[in-house]
Order: sequence, then C-alpha cells, then structure tokens
Amino acid sequence: MAHLWMQDVNGWGAQKLDAALYDLAATPILHAEVAPMGSASRNSALLIRADAGGLPAWALIASPDSAVRVNSRALPAGLYVLADRDEIRTGDGIQYFFSTESLATVVAFPGAERPVYCGRCREPIEAGAPAVCCPGCGIWYHQSEELPCWTYAEKCNFCPSPTALNNGFSWTPED
Ligand SMILES: [Zn+2]
Ligand SMILES: [Zn+2]
Repeated sequence: MAHLWMQDVNGWGAQKLDAALYDLAATPILHAEVAPMGSASRNSALLIRADAGGLPAWALIASPDSAVRVNSRALPAGLYVLADRDEIRTGDGIQYFFSTESLATVVAFPGAERPVYCGRCREPIEAGAPAVCCPGCGIWYHQSEELPCWTYAEKCNFCPSPTALNNGFSWTPED
C-alpha cells in the first residue's frame, strides 16, 4: 500500500493511503469522501487513487493557479501521476513525500471466490489462515510456524520484494 510521508513535531512519519481521496491543503489531511471540486480553493491539492490494471495509481490534482509543486516543478495541467519518492509541496509550503513502498504483514487470509494457491508451496490457502500478500506483486503466501512459506526464502518467488517481516521501511525522506 502506498503511503505519504509527512512531518510533525516528532519528525517524519508515514501515513497509509488506504482511502481513495485526500486533501493535502487541509491540516491534518482529510479523508475526503467526495471530491470538493466546486469548492476547490486556490491552494487545493487533492490526492486521488485510480486503479490502473488492478494496481493502484495515485494522481495529484491541483487548481491551475495553485502554487503546488512536485519535485520543485509546477503542474501546468493541474494533474500529475505520482511516482515513488516524489516530493510534493503545497501552496502553503507543507512538504510531503509519496512512496509506493509497502510493508509485508501477516494477516488472516480473506478468502476469494476461486482457490488461491500459495506462491511458494502451491497448496491452496484457506480463508482465515495466516498469510502474507507480497507488497510488490500481490501474490499470497502462507505464513505460520508450520508453513513459513513467505519467509522461506529471502525474496518473493515472483518479484524482488524482500520477505523480512516488520523491519520498517527501507526508504524514508531522511535518506
Ligand atoms: Zn505455502
Ligand atoms: Zn512478490
């Protein structure tokens, strides 16, 4: 899951982008339910999720006369599709970093209409079983003491994602 780095009194922190729309000009940033296009202020900067072929993509939409910058550049079309580690600065001078890095976590497998087979052992994963969804490619793996399929190797079977659990983000804005 993508996230947004922002600063508070404790320094940089990452907020998960688990909603579909955020208003970066509001502090703290709002989970906006409806795009407030009509009321878009001069400084508005909306972060909107779009699904591109099943993979979430994030776009930044700013009013044309806003002072919003991405990587120190203005947004001439008022629209910018964000990439990993892009720096966003709002008209009010608030700095954010966008990151597509997500952390692998063990969750109860939610189940699916069709059987889902583990990326390591190829056995089906039962609903409710402890499992990890690879943050890089979305393949599911068992992850329990009996079936440590996700952590069995150093990397995912299908992509370069490391399988270490709970070791924090590999990139932060201080890097
Ligand atoms: Zn397995
Ligand atoms: Zn993977």
